[in-house]
Amino acid sequence: MASMQKLDESQIIAQLKYCKRLPTLPAVALQLVELAEDSSAALDEFAKVIAFDPALVGKLMRTANSSFYGLRRKVSSLSEAIGFMGLNATISLSLSFSLRGLSCGQGDGDLDDTNYWSRSLLTALAARTIAIELRELQPEDFLLAGLMQDIGVLAMAAMLGNPYVTLYKNSPDHASLLEYEAARYGFDHVRAGEQLLKHWRLPAHIHESVWRSHAPADCAQDRRTEDCSDGIGRLSACVATAACIADAWIEGASADALNAAFRTAQSFLDINAEQYQNIIASMRDEMPAMEALFESELVDPAVLQSIGDSALELLTVRNLHLLQASAVADGHIQALEQRIATLEMQTQRDSLTGLYNRDYLERKLAQEFDLALHSQSPFSVVFIDIDLFKSFNDSFGHAVGDQVLATVAHRILTISRQTDTVARYGGEEFVVLLPHTDVDAARAIVEQMLKSVRETPYLIRGDARAHITFSAGIAALLPGRTAFSTPAALIDAADSALYKTKGAGRGHITVHDSGLA
Ligand code: GH3
Ligand code: MG
Ligand code: MG
Repeated sequence: MASMQKLDESQIIAQLKYCKRLPTLPAVALQLVELAEDSSAALDEFAKVIAFDPALVGKLMRTANSSFYGLRRKVSSLSEAIGFMGLNATISLSLSFSLRGLSCGQGDGDLDDTNYWSRSLLTALAARTIAIELRELQPEDFLLAGLMQDIGVLAMAAMLGNPYVTLYKNSPDHASLLEYEAARYGFDHVRAGEQLLKHWRLPAHIHESVWRSHAPADCAQDRRTEDCSDGIGRLSACVATAACIADAWIEGASADALNAAFRTAQSFLDINAEQYQNIIASMRDEMPAMEALFESELVDPAVLQSIGDSALELLTVRNLHLLQASAVADGHIQALEQRIATLEMQTQRDSLTGLYNRDYLERKLAQEFDLALHSQSPFSVVFIDIDLFKSFNDSFGHAVGDQVLATVAHRILTISRQTDTVARYGGEEFVVLLPHTDVDAARAIVEQMLKSVRETPYLIRGDARAHITFSAGIAALLPGRTAFSTPAALIDAADSALYKTKGAGRGHITVHDSGLA
């Protein structure tokens, strides 16, 4: 099937569709993808589908009980495992396990004796570890995207057989592989992968992140233009970085290889030396669990041993020196320090929910307040407090309460827009800053947040579910109509509007009326 002829998009699609050896996802995985598209599907429907595949059930339970989750108490049933890991993580993990089970046939196009699987699984582990270090909300999405990044290689091996596998083996690095593929076949594994994922009908954000992660320059550009704050930009920047880290492990995790990957991590994600050290150390610690779960040896045990703590320390010290030396040479040391300080401030997150913490919120509130006054544009502040959360804890326990709190935070964050700031103010209280937003628009957004928090029940344990509502208060700085003289006065007004909601039965929204014409 290999030829020098170049194919256009429709020919690639045709080849993929009619290639008899094209890897197919197991029926259970396809059903999960279909169910995931149906937002009304209940958790037990997912559990029922998964239960059809006992091997998958076993793997999910082993994952929930592995060092990945570090649970103090072991889970003993599938629904408990889904409850702990969350539905989204369960789906991502199920797809990941299904992908690892794929092969493109015997003999021709066999990738098993190449580094394909170890590179993909290392990328997946690195992407998940980066996501955890950066406190992203859905680390298993990153695991899946990492594993999918080079799925096009599998498709091309199935389509084109041994000549392609030989080309894959002989490529000195990934960039050359893409060039060789394009020169020989007229398309590359990024495009083949994208078509395969579309053919499997996987969610758009997954295949978009696959191709975007192959365009590192675009990722760096995304970061500069702050597009990375959108989920896909960030996912793809993480996967691109993860692939570089995977290559460093494959190259024996030498200090040079790890340093090269660190530079990518700095450039794509602003990862600092300490975070990078944590990522490499966590990967080393999680490697045995990952190898056991995916039944593959990822790196030579001798390499794992050599990445001891002292090697990591050296790596960090050396990088700090390198950073400092180049900054001195450029005469930019002050700018660098300023940048690090800004980044530190920006990364101040609450550890339970991943939202911004109160310190960050207060700084951001002062900034947005000044900006609104200066630009004479409306600025709304929302105070949210979960209703009757004390009795929720009393009924279900603090650990379940923590999980639900994180889910509520995630639902609120999902509704918010890119320019909004969502923070955990403390306990079960959140504050949302809505710049350039008047009272009506703010109310509409908070209504959506309340709907999202209220409508889907929360899985407690076994089949038990509970409902949650919140109360909210909104106060707005409307140029010419409301006169709050300080940020504190504005937030206090939102708090007192919230207080009114609590007094009037909870579960709805009150707008502070002070100064409103
Ligand atoms: P109300 O509707 O009046 O707000 O009632 P409430 O019970 O939510 O309010 P109250 O202020 O009496 O209690 C807040 C509860 O929130 C008490 C505390 O147990 C719980 N809470 C605060 N922070 C956390 C947390 O981090 N995790 C868990 N699980 N619970 C928390
Ligand atoms: Mg409270
Ligand atoms: Mg409360």
